[in-house]
Amino acid sequence: MVNYKDLGLVNTREMFAKAVDGGYAIPAFNFNNMEQLQAIIKACAETKSPVILQVSSGARKYANQTLLRYMAEGAVEYAKELGWEHPQICLHLDHGDTFELCKSCVDFGFSSVMIDGSSLPYEENIALTKKVVEYAHQYDVTVEAELGVLAGVEDDVVAEESHYTKPEEVIDFATRTGCDSLAISIGTSHGAYKFKPEQCTRDPKTGKLVPPPLAFDVLEEVEKKLPGFPIVLHGSSSVPQEYVDIINSHGGNLPDAVGIPEDQLRKAAKSAVCKINIDSDSRLAFTAAVRKVLAEKPGEFDPRKYCGPARDEMVKLYKHKIIEVLGSDGKAE
Ligand SMILES: [Zn+2]
Repeated sequence: MVNYKDLGLVNTREMFAKAVDGGYAIPAFNFNNMEQLQAIIKACAETKSPVILQVSSGARKYANQTLLRYMAEGAVEYAKELGWEHPQICLHLDHGDTFELCKSCVDFGFSSVMIDGSSLPYEENIALTKKVVEYAHQYDVTVEAELGVLAGVEDDVVAEESHYTKPEEVIDFATRTGCDSLAISIGTSHGAYKFKPEQCTRDPKTGKLVPPPLAFDVLEEVEKKLPGFPIVLHGSSSVPQEYVDIINSHGGNLPDAVGIPEDQLRKAAKSAVCKINIDSDSRLAFTAAVRKVLAEKPGEFDPRKYCGPARDEMVKLYKHKIIEVLGSDGKAE
């Protein structure tokens, strides 16, 4: 049994309380390799932003769970080395799907876990979430639950169709499960292809797809039912067109990739939404930088020469998100 507090990590409770009061959102960035983690910590140390490091079950399979745990522990020390005196770093399991997986993360030094029972019938989702909450809270580990279904593909999470969260269920769900935060579905979606072209309109000038707006009416209803309760948005990458263009002009093929416009996320961050998950955007930044180097310097074979620029690009991306979209800069001095 490893307690996260011994690793210098924090849970989400205080982070979220401050974010709800302050009208901003905490970035939740996924990582599965060293360059991504370095870029996240550098960006957060330079902006003094609290951060949630997310590990999905796919990342655990890819990178090895033990290694990821020690990387997160190392991240705290790295942050201090960068001059961030009191780093607020949470290590969070993204989309846990069983009690056993969540338990193993709690036992292994995670400070927060998500139990995603959103594909289960309502009562089964409640029972599973409650079981995880009861275990996690013994160790002061916070728990995120999900109600409503997001479309899209993210590692092992695949759903064809989205179902908006039903605001009339949230009080019952939050009360009976005791969860600390709730991921809701209001039209965000996992992956770089968040919407089918037929769901979008096309900008006549650029020919680019314009996605449908988020269901802010659902968010407002949820907020009315659960005032001050931390709400989470998954699938909230914006899929920056400049990265898609670099990828496509350097041998890639991402036709009609489309994300959530940043002004909509900014609006959400000012409301009860206090955690915004961003994964695809950093994958795109990484891939764009790597493709560019390899296309321009075909003789290059030192991974540091293309992973280094990829890391720099991710630092830029994370800082942009923190400062321009989430508003979390300066919130963890
Ligand atoms: Zn997700």
